[in-house]
Amino acid sequence: MSIQVQYDLVILGSGSTAFAAALHAAELGKTAVMTEYRTVGGTCANRGCLPSKNLIEAARLVYHAAHPRYPGLSPVQIPVSWAELVAQKDEIVQEYRAHKYESLLDDPERIQIVPGQARLVSDHEVEVRGADGTRRLVGEQILIATGSQPAIPLVPGLSDVPYLTSDLLSSADDPWGLELREQPDSLLILGSGYIALELGQMFARFGTQVTLISRGRTILSGYEPEIAEALTEILQKEGLRIVTGAQVRGVRKAGEDVTLSVLRHESQQTYTAAKLLVATSRRPNTPEIGLERVGVEVDRAGAVRVDRTLRTTVPHIWAAGDVIGRETGSQMATPVGAHDGKIAAHNALSEEPLREVDHTVIPRTIFTDPQVAVVGMTDEEANAAGIACECNVIPLSVVPRAGAIHDTRGVIKMVLERPTRRVVGVSMLGMNAGEVIGEAAMALRFGATTDDFIDLVHVYPTMAEALKLVALSFTKDVNRLSCCAS
Ligand SMILES: Cc1cc2nc3c(=O)[nH]c(=O)nc-3n(C[C@H](O)[C@H](O)[C@H](O)COP(=O)(O)OP(=O)(O)OC[C@H]3O[C@@H](n4cnc5c(N)ncnc54)[C@H](O)[C@@H]3O)c2cc1C
Repeated sequence: MSIQVQYDLVILGSGSTAFAAALHAAELGKTAVMTEYRTVGGTCANRGCLPSKNLIEAARLVYHAAHPRYPGLSPVQIPVSWAELVAQKDEIVQEYRAHKYESLLDDPERIQIVPGQARLVSDHEVEVRGADGTRRLVGEQILIATGSQPAIPLVPGLSDVPYLTSDLLSSADDPWGLELREQPDSLLILGSGYIALELGQMFARFGTQVTLISRGRTILSGYEPEIAEALTEILQKEGLRIVTGAQVRGVRKAGEDVTLSVLRHESQQTYTAAKLLVATSRRPNTPEIGLERVGVEVDRAGAVRVDRTLRTTVPHIWAAGDVIGRETGSQMATPVGAHDGKIAAHNALSEEPLREVDHTVIPRTIFTDPQVAVVGMTDEEANAAGIACECNVIPLSVVPRAGAIHDTRGVIKMVLERPTRRVVGVSMLGMNAGEVIGEAAMALRFGATTDDFIDLVHVYPTMAEALKLVALSFTKDVNRLSCCAS
C-alpha cells in the first residue's frame, strides 16, 4: 500500500507533552502537526497547574493576613471578590498560553495545529473533525499525547445532580464553558488526593465551608502516613471538615443544594452543601481515538501500553504524557510529559539510537500550605520492593529557619537502604518543600548516601537544612545540635 506522507509526525493532542515533541521534531528539521479539540496548551496551562497555583497563592495571602504568625502583627480580613480573582486568573492563563504555546506556532512550515477531534482511522492516518469540516492528516510517525480527564466514579444519583470537576478552573474561552463563575458558600469534595486537597484548602481560605469525603482511612493514599496525618491536622485546624473511611452510597439534589449519603463506621451519614466537586482520580483519554482499530493496546487502567522507548504495540506509533498513566512507572505530571514528549519525538524521528525513559526519580509537589513534596520510594514501597530499609521522621521544629520565622508546621521522612546508607526516598510536609525536594531528587539520581546529605554545606538558615538534619537523625539526636553543626 502506498502512503501519501504529509507530515513526519502527527500528534494527537496539544498539551505540554505534544508541544515538547513538536518542538523537538522542528529541531530535527522535521514537520509536525498537533490536533486539539479544547484549548491549545492542554490541561496544565488552561485548567490545571497554572490556574490552580495562581488562585492558591491568592488564598494563601488572604489566610496569612487573617492569621499572622508573629506576635505584634494584627490580623486583617482581606475582602475577596471571586469574580475579580477569576478575571485575573483568566488573564494570566491567556498571557501564558499566548507566550508559551501559541507564539511557538509561528513557523507553520514546521509546526502546525489543526483544531478538532482527532482519531486514528488507519495506522498512518488521523481524521480531525473540526467546526470547519473534516481533515485527514497522514503521518510517517504518530504520537498519542491526548492527556487525561477527571474520572467520574459510579455513584447512584450522580448523573442526576450538577457537579463540578477540576475543570472549574477552565477559563472563559474554553469551548466547554465549565469555569466556576461564583464562589460557593459550601462545598463537598469527593476525593482526598492532591487536586482535592489543593482546591479544598484554597476554597476554605476564601471563605467557603469545605467538607472532604475520603474513601481511605486517611487522606493522600500512597503517601507516607506521617505526612497524611500531619496535613490532616493542619487542614482541620484551618476549619476543613475531613471525613475519612466513608463509602459513598448515593447523591441527590436537596433544593438548590446537593446531599451525599455515606456509610461510615457502619452508620449512615449525610452531608449537604451548595456544590459538589468530584476529584477522585483522572483517567487517560484513550476511548474514541481509534486505538483498537489500529492495534494499539491499553492496560487495565485504560492507559496506552508503551515500552521504555515509549513505543506502543504498533511500531511507528508512540505515546507519552498523562495518556500512558503509570506505564513504565510514569506519573501524571507536566514535567514528566514534556520530558518524555521529547524522547518520543527523538525515537520516532531521529536516526540516532533509541532513548529510554527512566521514571525512578520523579519529584512531585502538592501545593497545599505547607507543601507536600516527595521523591523516590515510601517506606512501604521500599519494603514491597524487597529493600532492607530504615526510615526516620523528624518534626520541622528542629530546622532553624522554621523556628526563626514562626512556621514549624510539618515533618520530613527519609528512607534509606540499610547496608549501603543510600537514600531511596524523601517525603516532606513543610514550608517550601517543593523547592527543597529538588536537592533530594538530584541526590537520588546520583545514588547519594546519608553522608552526602550531611557533608554538603547547606545555606543557613534554609528549609533545605531539613534534609541534612533528617540524614543526621539516623545516628544523632538532632535536638541536641548547635546551629549548623553535624
Ligand atoms: C487541577 C490540576 C492541577 C494540576 N497541577 C499540576 C501541577 O502543579 N504540576 C504538575 O506537574 N502537574 C499538574 N497537573 C497535571 C498536569 O496538568 C498534567 O500532567 C499535564 O497537563 C499532562 O500533559 P499532557 O500533554 O500529557 O496532557 P494534556 O495537558 O491533558 O493535553 C492533552 C490535550 O489533548 C487534547 N485532546 C484529547 N483528546 C483529543 C482528541 N481526540 N482530539 C484532539 N485533542 C484531544 C485535550 O483537550 C488536551 O488539551 C494538574 C492537573 C490538574 C487537573
